[in-house]
Amino acid sequence: MDTKHFCQSCSMPLDKPEMMGTEKDGTRSKDYCTYCYQHGAFLSPGMTLEEMKTLVKTQMEKMNIDSALVKKAVKSLPMLKRWNKVKKPVVA
Ligand SMILES: [Zn+2]
Repeated sequence: MDTKHFCQSCSMPLDKPEMMGTEKDGTRSKDYCTYCYQHGAFLSPGMTLEEMKTLVKTQMEKMNIDSALVKKAVKSLPMLKRWNKVKKPVVA
């Protein structure tokens, strides 16, 4: 079974190829969704983590997603590649 992929910017599940963002050469990004990343660049490059938290919360509430799940998604955002600026030791 494939590991489930999530957008490393907004935590949206990347379960369909059309959900994935695109690189400069048109290939699909494995890390980011189409709403965050197109043609090799973020659509909102100046966005902060706090702004993304607000956006994710607003979008999920619009979709009537359970508030516990919304909280969990917002909490997981700082761990994503785009926001996690802390260098972790590489595990071999
Ligand atoms: Zn995204």
